[in-house]
Parts: sequence; C-alpha cells; structure tokens
Amino acid sequence: MIEAQNLTKRYGERTAVDGLSFSVRPGIVTGFLGPNGAGKSTTMRMILGLDTPTAGQVTIDGKPFATMANPMREVGALLDAKAIHGGRSAYHHLLCLAQTNNLPRRRVDEVLEQVGLTEVARKRAKGFSLGMGQRLGIAGALLGDPKILMFDEPVNGLDPEGILWIRNLMKSLAAQGRTVFVSSHLMSEMENTADHLIVIGRGRIIADCTVREFIEQNSQLVVRVRTPQAAELAGVLARHGGKSVPDDTGDGLLITELTLDRVGDLAFDSGIRLHELSALQASLEQAFMELTKDSVEYHAAVPAMTREG
Ligand code: ADP
Repeated sequence: MIEAQNLTKRYGERTAVDGLSFSVRPGIVTGFLGPNGAGKSTTMRMILGLDTPTAGQVTIDGKPFATMANPMREVGALLDAKAIHGGRSAYHHLLCLAQTNNLPRRRVDEVLEQVGLTEVARKRAKGFSLGMGQRLGIAGALLGDPKILMFDEPVNGLDPEGILWIRNLMKSLAAQGRTVFVSSHLMSEMENTADHLIVIGRGRIIADCTVREFIEQNSQLVVRVRTPQAAELAGVLARHGGKSVPDDTGDGLLITELTLDRVGDLAFDSGIRLHELSALQASLEQAFMELTKDSVEYHAAVPAMTREG
C-alpha cells in the first residue's frame, strides 16, 4: 500500500505537486493518469525518496522509503529506462544491482527469464532496442521480488507487442497480490490495463475512482437519430429539455440531455417517423481530455467524436 497525504512539491515559483492525498492498494493495477507536466514523475520520485516533498508525506506500507533497510526487496521501480549503463551486458547490469543490494545471484537468471531476455543476457545493453531496454529496466524492478511496483510511462515508444506484454505483466503482478502503480498520459493505455484510476492535472487530484466509474461519469451519452422530420423532432425534444444539432448526413440529429428511450417515446408520441435511433459514446480519451482541459499546459486540438457500436 502506498499512501500520500497532502503531498506537495514546489520548484521555486512552480508548484509541481499540489496537496495530493491518495492510496494505492495491493492486488489491483492502479493507473496514474494525467497530461504531460501534471506532476506524475515528481510524485513517483517523492514516493521513492528521490525528491523531498515541500510539504506532506508519502509512505510505503506505513514507512517512508528512506527508512527501509532493504528497499529493493520492498519496492521496485521503472522510472527512466534509458538510465541503464550501456556498456554492460544485461546480465552484468542486473548482477551488479543484485550484489550491491544483497540479493541472491539466482534472482538475476530468474528475472531475465521472466522478462524474456535470457537469450540476449550476455549482449551489451547499448545495442538493445527500446523494448529490450524497457524489459531490462523491468527486470531490475523485479529483482528484489518486491510487493510494491511502480512504472513511469512504461509503454512510451513501444510497439503493440511490447505494449501487450507490459499490460499482461502488470495484471499478473497485481494478481499475485502486489501493489502496481503505473503512470501514463494516455487514457487509452489505462482503459485496458488499470482497475483503479488516480487522475491528476496541474499537481491536483481530478478523479480517484474505478475505471468503470470513470467511464460512467465521464463519457457523455449522445443519441443519434435519422428522420425525415428532423426540424419537427428537434422542436419536440427542445420542449422536453433535449438539445439537438444536425449531423453531417442531412437527415440526422445528435441529441444530448435525453436518454435513448425518451427520444424514442417522444418521437412516437408526436407521430414522427424514425429511420435510426442509436447511442453514441464519446470516447474515453475524449472524456479524459475534457476533464483535464483546464489543466493542460499546452492545448492541442481535440479530435472529433468517435462512434462506437
Ligand atoms: P509528468 O510526469 O506528469 O509529465 P512532472 O512531474 O515531470 O510531470 O512535472 C510536473 C511539473 O513540474 C512540470 O511543470 C515540470 O516542468 C516541473 N518540474 C519537474 N521537475 C522539475 C525540476 N527539477 N525543476 C523545476 N521544475 C520541474
């Protein structure tokens, strides 16, 4: 369990992390989601004692990281995979880590096997692809067989196969009862990996809920109809609190503020013929952007609504 209370970090005038309180529970994957610059890395660095909070505190199983006698046995982290000494082989990199942390040598072979690097273990890490480097970083995090694991943007730049591998690894680590805390700036990555979400923007908590709750609360339902009597239907719906805008097909309307059933009933009661009645869901990525739009440092264009189902 990771517990943060009023965790705050200021760099001069800039507040990177602004009074965060949250807990990360064992047995599930917790996604740490926020736009770039939201304060995710700074928070993770404070959890690992690499940065000192300006105010507040964070503990791991009740203890600050700095007080742990054998930190690698308790917490494993992948922060910056590129920080690996390139001249060494994967095996020697891990062996060094094991020896300086009093971990048994056999763990090196075990984690190499676990991340699928056994065959290239004697090759220099310098020649590794991004995905292999990422696997090596994860092997390092797993070396002490820790109960708590943290990964900062682990799938950045990986190919679909690498992304799938990391996703499954996280789920299996959580299924073993470990605490898995993983950051990302993309909702689409979290949607399929995380059970719980902590969403931050400009250093503050925006949401702390399950992925299911996040979807329910943040994806606005839009009802789409096609009808030869679009103007008439829009008038009827407006009198009952509905908002309609024409879509690009000429005879379609996109309706918000009314449920699909209600739109169908109102059309029927008014004798208006419908050629289509369907539900559109704003994509989760869009919901996330909507939620964090006031906290993004640099705005990018919001993509158009996507149609699902
Ligand atoms: P994220 O990981 O969510 O992208 P970061 O934690 O890296 O966000 O950064 C949060 C904010 O703190 C950003 O505005 C960043 O520029 C600032 N920041 C991070 N580290 C430092 C530092 N060492 N000195 C000054 N500002 C920093």
